[in-house]
Amino acid sequence: MFKKLFVLKYLIFLILFGSTILCAKEFKLDNNIKILIRKNCSTIDKFAAEELKKHLLLAGAKKCDIGHVDKKITSPLVLTFYIGQAYPGFDKKLQNTEARYAIRGNKVYLWGENRISSRLTLKQILGIPSARCGTLSAVYAFLADKLAVKWIRPGDSGIYCSKTSTLNLADTEDYKWVMPMNMCGVRVYWWRNRLIQPLTRFTPEKLRCSVDSVDEHSLQDFIWFRRMRLGTKSRIRYGHAFGKWWKKYGQIHPEWFGMNPNGKRGLPIRYSKRNKLCLSNNQVVDQIIKEWQEKGAPERWNICPNDGSLGYCRCEDCMALDCRKKGETFYDHLTDRYVNFWNRIVGKAVKIRPDVKFITYVYSYYRFPPRREKIKYPDNMILGMVPMMFEDNEKMFKEWQELGAKHVFLRPNDLCISSSFFMGLEKRIYDKFKASMRFKLFGTDYDGGCGIRTLDFAYYITARMIVDQEKSFEELENDYCSTYGKAAPVVKEFYAYYRKLGETNLKKVASQLTLKNRQLLDSSQLIPEILRNTHLYYSQDDFKNATEILEKGKQLKLDQNSKKRLNELIILNEHALKTYDFLVEAQKKQLGRKNNIESAAKALVKFREKESKTIDWCWQYLFARTEKTYWLLSNWYLKYINLKINEDKDILLWSSFDLPAMDGWRKRAQFSKITNKTASFDQFSVELTASRKEGLGISYHGFKVEPGKIYKLSYDYLLGKENSPTYLRLRCVGRGNQKKSRVLFNLYSRKKGKYWQSEEKTFKVPADINNITFYFNVGPGRKGQVVNIDKISCRIIKDKK
Ligand SMILES: [Zn+2]
Repeated sequence: MFKKLFVLKYLIFLILFGSTILCAKEFKLDNNIKILIRKNCSTIDKFAAEELKKHLLLAGAKKCDIGHVDKKITSPLVLTFYIGQAYPGFDKKLQNTEARYAIRGNKVYLWGENRISSRLTLKQILGIPSARCGTLSAVYAFLADKLAVKWIRPGDSGIYCSKTSTLNLADTEDYKWVMPMNMCGVRVYWWRNRLIQPLTRFTPEKLRCSVDSVDEHSLQDFIWFRRMRLGTKSRIRYGHAFGKWWKKYGQIHPEWFGMNPNGKRGLPIRYSKRNKLCLSNNQVVDQIIKEWQEKGAPERWNICPNDGSLGYCRCEDCMALDCRKKGETFYDHLTDRYVNFWNRIVGKAVKIRPDVKFITYVYSYYRFPPRREKIKYPDNMILGMVPMMFEDNEKMFKEWQELGAKHVFLRPNDLCISSSFFMGLEKRIYDKFKASMRFKLFGTDYDGGCGIRTLDFAYYITARMIVDQEKSFEELENDYCSTYGKAAPVVKEFYAYYRKLGETNLKKVASQLTLKNRQLLDSSQLIPEILRNTHLYYSQDDFKNATEILEKGKQLKLDQNSKKRLNELIILNEHALKTYDFLVEAQKKQLGRKNNIESAAKALVKFREKESKTIDWCWQYLFARTEKTYWLLSNWYLKYINLKINEDKDILLWSSFDLPAMDGWRKRAQFSKITNKTASFDQFSVELTASRKEGLGISYHGFKVEPGKIYKLSYDYLLGKENSPTYLRLRCVGRGNQKKSRVLFNLYSRKKGKYWQSEEKTFKVPADINNITFYFNVGPGRKGQVVNIDKISCRIIKDKK
C-alpha cells in the first residue's frame, strides 16, 4: 500500500517538479558572466545575486559582475543571469514558496515567490522561517543542479563546489520547486549573545566566542538554513505557552497553578516559567478562551504546556484525571489529564469559531497515548509530536492516530545533542522521519544546537531528508561523503563505525533507564546520561579505531580541500578522545577514587586552545553547560579561568538525587534507598528508615567553606505521616587546620502536616573553620517508619554589614 503510494507520489513529483530539458550548450566560465538585478530590487533579490556570484567565482568563473537590467547586453556569448525576473511572457501566478529557473539560450532567469517585509534587515529576513525567499531558493536550486554545490555546514568552509572551466546548460529548460510541507524546519537559532555571553566566565579566555563572532555565526547559520531551502509556508506560533502566566495571575489566582509536593501552588520564582496549570480547574479553561477571544479569536492558538518536569499539579481533582496503572509513579503517565483538558478547551472554542485549531505538544510525560481519553475534536487540534530517540515513531503516531490525532507535525529534540562524541545517530534520525512520514505530516521542526561539530553530518542529513524526500539515506550519505573527494569511502566507514557504536550505546542507555526506573523527557537528555557514565559507553580503543580508519585517507592523493576536511575530522576525533579521558578522570573524582583529573583537564584545555580555529565550536555551551559539572571538579581549571564565586548566585552544594544518584552523600546505617515514590524537587528523594534509637542516615564530607562568611543551608523533608519517626536531625560539624572538629549547630525537623516541608539555616563560619561535614540523623521510631530528604542546598550569602 505504502509502496504503491510512493511510486504514485514519485510520478507526480516528476511531473510537477522535474524540469524539461532540450539540447545542451557549453559556456566557458572564463568568459565574462553577467548577473542582472532590477534597480530598487528587494533585499532578497540583491542577496540572491551576491550568492550566485560568490558560488560562480568559487566554481572557477574569472569575472562576474552584478549590474542592472537596463544595461544593454549585446554579445550572445555572454552568459547572463536575470535575478528576480521571469522570462518574457511568463504570466503564471506563483504558489507559496515557489522557486523557478528557466534557461533560454544564454539567458538564465531565476525568480520565485517572495514574501518579506521591506522594513527588515537581510539578517532579520533570513532568520524568520516564515519569510518566503523564492528567488534565493531558485538560485540555490540552480547551483545544486548545475554545479553540484553542497552546503555541508554553515559558513564558507562548509561550501563544497568543485572547480570547472565550463558550464553545460540546455538551450531551453524550465525548473520549478515548491516547499514540500507547510513547515520544513531544522532550528538554527542558538548562536545568540543573550544566551552565550552570560556563560563566558566559565570558559577559558582564549576560547570565548566574542559578541561579533557570535553575530557572524548566527548570520551564517541563517544563510545555511536558506541554502538548504528550509522555512515555513506561513507563520505558525507555538512553544511553551504559559511562561508569563505566573507573573500575570500568580498573586490573584494561585489556584490556577499546579499544586506541588509541599501543598503549595506554584514553583519557586526561578522556575516560574515552568509552572504548570491546574488542569481540572475550569476557570483555567475559561481564562484561556478569554485570552484567545481578546486577541480576536484567531484560527490558530498556542496551548503547549510549559517545559520541564517540575510543577505538575498534584491536587486531588487533577490526580483523579490520571490513569495510572498499579505500581506506576506520578511521572509514568500524565497524558489523560492533558487530553481531558484540551478537549474541554476546544469544546468551548468551537462554539465560538468552528474552524479554530489549538496547537499543543505531545511531549514529556504526556507523550504516551491516553488510556481513557480520546481526541474529541480531531479537526481542531494540531499536535507537535516529540518522540524520544529510541522510541518507535510509527508506533507512537499510529497509537495517537487511532485516538483521534489528525493534524500532526514532528517536533523532535534529536539534534539537541551537545557533545564532543560522534553519536552515530544520523541513520536513526532519517528512519524515524520516514516512519513519521507514513502519516500525513503537517511539517517538521527539529530543535538543535549550535557549533557542535560532531553534529555536522546529522544536521546535513536532517535538512536534506526534509526537503529532498525522494532521496534514500545512502544517497544523502554519499552526497555528504563525496565532499571529501577520494577519501569519501574512508569517511563513510568512519561514520558507519560510530553508527554501530551509537546504536549499541542507545540500547545501553535504555537498559540503564529501566534499571533505575527512570523516564527521559526527550532525546536531549541522552547526552547528560552518557556523560555521567562515559566509561560504560566508550573506551579509548573506540576513538583510536576511528582515527585508524581516517588515517587510511591520508595515504590517498587528495585535493587540497578534501585534505583539509579530512584533517579536520581527524582533529575532531582526537578531540573526542581527549574529552573522553577528561570525563573518565572527573567521574573517578566524583566517586572519591584515585584520579588524574588535573592533568587530563589541562591536556584537554590546551588541545582546544591549539585547535580552536580548526574546530570552531561554541565553547561557552560546552564548558558552561554540557561539561560544567566536570570542569568545576578540577582545581587547576578553576584557577586557570580565575573563577570568582558569584555570591547569591552560585550554589556550592546542590543535591536533588534525581540522576538518581547520591550526589556525593554517603550511605550510612539508616539509609534505605533513593526512591521515586515521593520527592519535593523533580522525581527522586532519599529515604531513611527509623530504628529504636536515633541513627545516622546520610553524611556529606569535606564541604569547603571560607572562614567568616555567611552561608545559607536548606533542605526539604517529608515527615508528616502517622508512621514516621519522631524527628530528623541535621548535625553540622566544622573542622579547621588543627584537625580538631566541633559541632557548629544541630537542626531538628519534626512532623508537620501531610506535605513536604522546608528547613533553612543561616550561619556564620567561625574564623578557625574551613571544612564542614553534614550528618542527617533519623530520630527514634518503629520498624518500617521512614523519612524522606530532598533538595539539599548550601550557598554563600552576602555579608550583611
Ligand atoms: Zn490541579
